[in-house]
Amino acid sequence: MSRSLQVEIPRASLEVARPSLEVARASYRSISLYSPNRTPCRLDLSDNTNMWGVPPAVRSLLGSAADSVITRYPRAYADDLKLAIAAYLKVDPAGIVTGCGSDDVLDSTIRAFSEPGQTLAYPDPSFAMVEIFARMNGLSPLAIPLTGDFDADADAFIATGAPIIYLCSPNNPTGTTLSRRSIERIIENAPGVVILDEAYAEFANGDCLDLLPASERLVITRTMSKAFGLAGLRVGYAVGAVNLVREIEKSRGPYKVSSLGERAAIAALTEDRRWVDDRIIQAREVRAALTRELEKRGLAPLASEANFVLARVQRAERLAARLRENGVAVRPFPGLTGIGDAIRITVGPWAMMDECLAALDGALP
Ligand code: PMP
Repeated sequence: MSRSLQVEIPRASLEVARPSLEVARASYRSISLYSPNRTPCRLDLSDNTNMWGVPPAVRSLLGSAADSVITRYPRAYADDLKLAIAAYLKVDPAGIVTGCGSDDVLDSTIRAFSEPGQTLAYPDPSFAMVEIFARMNGLSPLAIPLTGDFDADADAFIATGAPIIYLCSPNNPTGTTLSRRSIERIIENAPGVVILDEAYAEFANGDCLDLLPASERLVITRTMSKAFGLAGLRVGYAVGAVNLVREIEKSRGPYKVSSLGERAAIAALTEDRRWVDDRIIQAREVRAALTRELEKRGLAPLASEANFVLARVQRAERLAARLRENGVAVRPFPGLTGIGDAIRITVGPWAMMDECLAALDGALP
């Protein structure tokens, strides 16, 4: 039944439905809607979510929520969730802001610390939504290519003078991490705010939370969508200096985390940590094994510290279409800067990886 809800709106009707450009913000003319292929597929390994399923305490909570969780408004700024996140990360709850996914937190952060017309500098390749968030807020996105070893080019970022610098580690779609040295140099020399997106930090060998106390410039964003398996409930957050976080909260506005989302996130953080930690260990093991299998096939996978692996391929779009025909969805990236064509495969239980590798074997030239 849920399938019928996923009907794709034909492109032509979107064109017809578009409002007159005269009434739209001029800078919005260059913005297109984010449209990854989400057509249902037997095995969807395209969006880096938790393929091991729903944390158990969240599952039981969803079935037993009181009516008021649905009929009443949530807490304006999700204060209970802040307490649970603070305990998880061992930081001050006053330095936390939540949102409708970390997408929302990124958008609010960009808006809070920039004026339309200014520049947002971001690595290329990196999280595709960042360029869109820049344009949504009237900023000019400025792509700074990653270095040959997939690090941030600190000098180039500093030279932009951009009031917002976005960094991502582990980086999507490469899975690679940025060096501490580059991150620290950028934070020390940035004229404005540095956003460090750690959406995949739980799968990595380390994080940069320890840089926060010394910095009035750094905002680290995180999500409940990946390791914690709650992407459909849309809960994300940022951690930073109290003064910075207060500004982000103004830009975010009230009621951005639903009551169910807040409760589920609290349950996952407080009752399901064992379950989540076990899945993280499995994801890291599967990632290593998948990387080896891709290497055997000559696909030169990048060294990932996330819950996905990026493999270099010929003609990514065509390969992804062939895999889809065989029931496996991966995310194609044609012509990535410094990399070329690649596909990104979400890590999941090994049976899924086996199915994906079998489909790859059938689809590779
Ligand atoms: N940052 C990165 C690097 C991501 O890959 C994603 C999701 N694909 C997000 C942020 C947004 O995640 P969410 O809004 O679900 O928290």
